[in-house]
Amino acid sequence: MQQPKKIKKVVIAGGGTAGWMAAASLSKLLGKAIEVTLIESDQIPTVGVGEATIPTLHIFHRLLGINEQEFMAATNATFKLGISFEHWKNGQDKYIHSFGYLGKDCWATGFTSFWVKGQQRGIASEIGDYCTEHLAARRGRFAVLPSRDLNHAYHLDAGLYAKYLKNIAFTHGCQRVEGKINNVLLDNESGHITAIELENGHTVKGDLFIDCTGFRGLLIDQALHTGYEDWGHWLPCDRAIAVQTDCTTKQVPYTRSIARDAGWQWRIPLQNRTGNGLVYCSHYMSEEEAKVQLLANIDGEPLNEPRVIRYQTGTRKKHWNKNCIAIGLASGFIEPLESTGIHLFQRGIIRLLQMFPLNGINQTDIDEFNAQTKFECDNIRDFIILHYHLTEREDTPFWRYCKNMDIPDSLRHRMAHFKAAARMFKKDGELFGESSWVQVMLGQGLMPEQYHPIVDTMSDAELEHFLSTIKGNVSKQVDNFPDHYDFIQHYCKAANV
Ligand code: FAD
Repeated sequence: MQQPKKIKKVVIAGGGTAGWMAAASLSKLLGKAIEVTLIESDQIPTVGVGEATIPTLHIFHRLLGINEQEFMAATNATFKLGISFEHWKNGQDKYIHSFGYLGKDCWATGFTSFWVKGQQRGIASEIGDYCTEHLAARRGRFAVLPSRDLNHAYHLDAGLYAKYLKNIAFTHGCQRVEGKINNVLLDNESGHITAIELENGHTVKGDLFIDCTGFRGLLIDQALHTGYEDWGHWLPCDRAIAVQTDCTTKQVPYTRSIARDAGWQWRIPLQNRTGNGLVYCSHYMSEEEAKVQLLANIDGEPLNEPRVIRYQTGTRKKHWNKNCIAIGLASGFIEPLESTGIHLFQRGIIRLLQMFPLNGINQTDIDEFNAQTKFECDNIRDFIILHYHLTEREDTPFWRYCKNMDIPDSLRHRMAHFKAAARMFKKDGELFGESSWVQVMLGQGLMPEQYHPIVDTMSDAELEHFLSTIKGNVSKQVDNFPDHYDFIQHYCKAANV
């Protein structure tokens, strides 16, 4: 039997956020065992809009030894404690999905059961009052604490972040080749990729190829025809129009997501500018209408022409196919609503590092990689669908469609479980935990009908004391945090601001 080919040369195609994340981590962590080459084209711009992150980015930064203050100053970053969802439930409402944990659990049930009974008795206030990150976001405060760090992420400049990672990759020996990919060469027998041909005649050979060419998926799709699972019936938005504006107010420590007629609008505050975009469904809104709606709802002067990005929500049928692994938009795109793009890139990279096929590729690794990725993507997909489906809005055809659309069984089950008895279970490998699901479900109006009976072991007076103690402690803690803007000024101010 033929021995599997040892992996020595890794070629990364594409130099956007995904490509440079892959290049920095592979060259830093495996650079002594492999050679890493990245191909990017100066003629083809990056998407350049992925600017809101989630707290898992800390794991990636720890692997790369990134210093928070230095990285934030270099990327004009601000802190993010969650997302403010506005007008999603009925057009008038607002709630925050924060990165913090709600209240205190007991072995039998989460905090929600205690809170639900408190609501029924009129002794509990809004759920966010029992969560430090939530209250800090609402009050525009932030601190780095010596005892327990706030669960936080960042808003960052995507272009500067790629540049920052590029420097790390170069420090660890990554080679960069500039040129437009013209052709992908395949082995006649195995169908594996053997080399990439560039327009300038240059050929880059490799053993393992990472496709980071964005939506084009030049390797995984155009060369290997891996196929795509379309999620457009559940996640119908298929366009984004993005524009940057100058800052007009102090930066808040959260992303804003404001529901609009046929989608939603993001606002991402950086130290020197604000990122804005309208995500919409082209079936219900034209490009011209989207542009008008976006420009009518921005603060500050536009710094560039609004740019339209077309996409199809879904995922590759396989993320690892033969000797090619897709990372980034080349692997699929769920939707930017919960800022999970960069997280999924990072998960793909870390999974590859954990299963790196130094002694040759085998099908067991490929199958395991694909199964884990599918599980993660399906779970995030359900969480995003929840926001659209759990609406009371019927004021536009888009919202009527979302409210009445069919949803995956896995999501239907989770919603029913929560509604019946405030129960929420997180399976191993799922990204979003109980606090996330609960904040969004309650925020969108899904109130449990019952709470766990263990709550009744407390008298009403004990429950009131329990709830008010947590709320008081949260409030006292947040009172001591400085203003988010002021904190940035002394902690990580960018040189160009
Ligand atoms: P790209 O930026 O498209 O990079 C592709 C690279 O491939 C480029 O370097 C290009 O030059 C190269 N390339 C392509 N074709 C060729 C060729 N023929 N020859 C040579 N090189 C080639 N993620 C988040 O985590 N948070 C967010 O808030 C967020 N918001 C998003 C909003 C929108 C509207 C979209 C579409 C995505 C968002 N994402 C977000 C997802 C993701 O973070 C970004 O889209 C990301 O910056 C782009 O990733 P990428 O590197 O895969 O692709």
